[in-house]
Amino acid sequence: MKYPILFIVSLLIIAATFFLTPEQKSGGEKFLIVIHGGAGSARPGMTEEEKQAHIAGLNTALTTGYDLLGQGKDALSVVEAVIRVLEDDSLFNAGRGAVLTSEGFASHDASIMNGIDLTAGAVGDVRRIKNPISLARMVMEKSNHVLMVGDGAEKFAEKQGVGFVPPEYFITEDQKATLKKRLDQMNKAGTVGCVVLDKNGNLAAGTSTGGMTGKLPGRLGDTPIIGAGTYANNATCAVSATGWGEKFIKNAVAFRISALMEYKGYTLKQAVKEVLDKNLAPKDGGVIAVDRAGNYEMYYTTPSMYRGVMTSDGIKEIKIWE
Ligand code: ASP
Repeated sequence: MKYPILFIVSLLIIAATFFLTPEQKSGGEKFLIVIHGGAGSARPGMTEEEKQAHIAGLNTALTTGYDLLGQGKDALSVVEAVIRVLEDDSLFNAGRGAVLTSEGFASHDASIMNGIDLTAGAVGDVRRIKNPISLARMVMEKSNHVLMVGDGAEKFAEKQGVGFVPPEYFITEDQKATLKKRLDQMNKAGTVGCVVLDKNGNLAAGTSTGGMTGKLPGRLGDTPIIGAGTYANNATCAVSATGWGEKFIKNAVAFRISALMEYKGYTLKQAVKEVLDKNLAPKDGGVIAVDRAGNYEMYYTTPSMYRGVMTSDGIKEIKIWE
């Protein structure tokens, strides 16, 4: 043979290509992040200052996630990091600033899911955990369970060395006033969520909330229920929901969107629209969703949804109303 070295190099390249993922083969390093800060909770009469504060909060979370994705961080870690930022921001109904139960304390629900292998973790009715999303991830990675609630979840957290805070940490004057006004009716408020496509083509989703103002102690909404408020599967999509939790549980909203893609070949847009427009009633809430090709949706039937998207193609959008 005239050029044995060239022949060997070609063989090596062919062999290496064989082991690449579809995304690596296409050279695709596309990544994106979508977040929400709750559907239907923006007061129409909010001042410009309030509006800008919410936009700034969303922007901080969005850019934190985008930068991590750019550095090659995995989807799951980005979802956790972004939701922690929103939990620490008292303007949103998760972590500090969460809505209050009918008895005046904050009770948090959160869940996280990895699209690679359907591993998931969730916590419900935890009252002293600073960042419930991180405890949800620990349930996923450090226990044999998917969902842990109440005292048991907090005992588990103690063993894991998670950050605890006194229950008063979560209570803001704003939420006290909201509870006072709305004690006679359950009310929706700004849950937070994040869905991500990372550089390796993997999907993850997470959601965190204080639930609904005036909820009965012990009530869990859709947020800690995998398949209702959160779902991620690399074969279909990653979804995080916000809205009237009981409706989202009954309609298995997040899983249903994934199932329409898996079993009926729907596009992400078709699946999201079908479930929100047909299975749910108008004003029930909204979802953010992303698929492996980098399509994304921020769809809601409430008058507003705090939301934002940032993609490696240069799209950046943060909005509250239409
Ligand atoms: N879905 C949440 C719940 O029902 C509330 C919300 O998204 O605003 O707990």
